[in-house]
Amino acid sequence: MAANLTITDALIVGGGHAGLSAALTLYRGLHTCIVFDTHQPRNKWDTPVHIMPTWDDQKAEEKRKISREELLKSGLIRFVDFGIEEVSKTGNGLFRVVDTRGEAWLGRKLLLSIGSTNLFPSIGGYEENFARGIFPCMLQFGYELRGVSSAGLLAVDTLASVPHASMLAQDAYKFTDNMTVYTSANPELAHAMQNELGSYGIAVDDREIIRLMPGPSKADVTIKFQDGAEKTEGFLVHRPGTRVASKLASQLGLEITEFGDIRVSPPFCQTNIPGVYAAGDCASPMKIIPNAISMGAYAGAGIARELPRAVTGNAAC
Ligand SMILES: Cc1cc2nc3c(=O)[nH]c(=O)nc-3n(C[C@H](O)[C@H](O)[C@H](O)COP(=O)(O)OP(=O)(O)OC[C@H]3O[C@@H](n4cnc5c(N)ncnc54)[C@H](O)[C@@H]3O)c2cc1C
Repeated sequence: MAANLTITDALIVGGGHAGLSAALTLYRGLHTCIVFDTHQPRNKWDTPVHIMPTWDDQKAEEKRKISREELLKSGLIRFVDFGIEEVSKTGNGLFRVVDTRGEAWLGRKLLLSIGSTNLFPSIGGYEENFARGIFPCMLQFGYELRGVSSAGLLAVDTLASVPHASMLAQDAYKFTDNMTVYTSANPELAHAMQNELGSYGIAVDDREIIRLMPGPSKADVTIKFQDGAEKTEGFLVHRPGTRVASKLASQLGLEITEFGDIRVSPPFCQTNIPGVYAAGDCASPMKIIPNAISMGAYAGAGIARELPRAVTGNAAC
């Protein structure tokens, strides 16, 4: 398919919280943007949003919808609901992206706000219970779970670390009377966790976990151990690792951090490739909506300041 000849000020790949926030800042600077989006946020479970002022206990999808409506009113933002598969820098310093239909688009600047992918541990039943009975953060999910008689933390995979697991176990202990850290056949870690948390009254269990199953009610999860025993907890805590899974980062030659995120420099979220910015979950270990919105706003400001005055003053996209 032939390239769309219009050159847009900014191409935004990813229309989640970060991308929408950047588009808002850019239209306020009279710049045109195209936002490409496949509508597959990392929180695909669309659990109610917490720790986001004005949006407590509401749906993220609804927030995105309202944000889009606001942006469309400007006449400067266009939405294309297809994924971007290819990205390159042209000889004359523009960016060219190609969507899943093969349609090409040109822009002066490029923002990646593509989110990131969860890396789940290989324990059977983990993924089915994630966001139902296994929760990554108690400050987001604990309040609704308060008062359960017992809960557990899976100190496995990315959480097989004393400082990280201790912090999240102590967070969780505020919402339950009995807290157990499960180290799943890792005696060295179990010993270290016992030393760290024993005095707080948090138990450590090192039996090997072979399966996680939905329990009888609400967020219950039943843990099946290698020895055949089972135990049901009111909820489990575990934070999976994440990484930027998109091939766009490698097509552009973007630097990736040890945590699997695109490396950007604060505050304006520039990457190592001039003219390319990245914001939100894909570019920060702080993966919460307020941070994605903040990074999007800064990236929008950085892009706007690199762009010349709009040629037409106020051209519709
Ligand atoms: C279970 C769960 C619950 C959570 N609860 C909360 C909470 O209560 N409060 C909170 O603050 N945070 C919460 N978070 C974190 C929050 O969801 C993220 O921090 C936030 O969504 C990040 O926004 P983002 O725009 O960076 O990425 P995303 O919201 O993941 O959006 C990225 C967008 O980019 C699109 N995309 C990706 N690649 C392409 C491509 N090649 N072409 C076109 N489009 C593309 C995707 O389809 C998606 O729409 C939760 C996360 C999880 C997993």
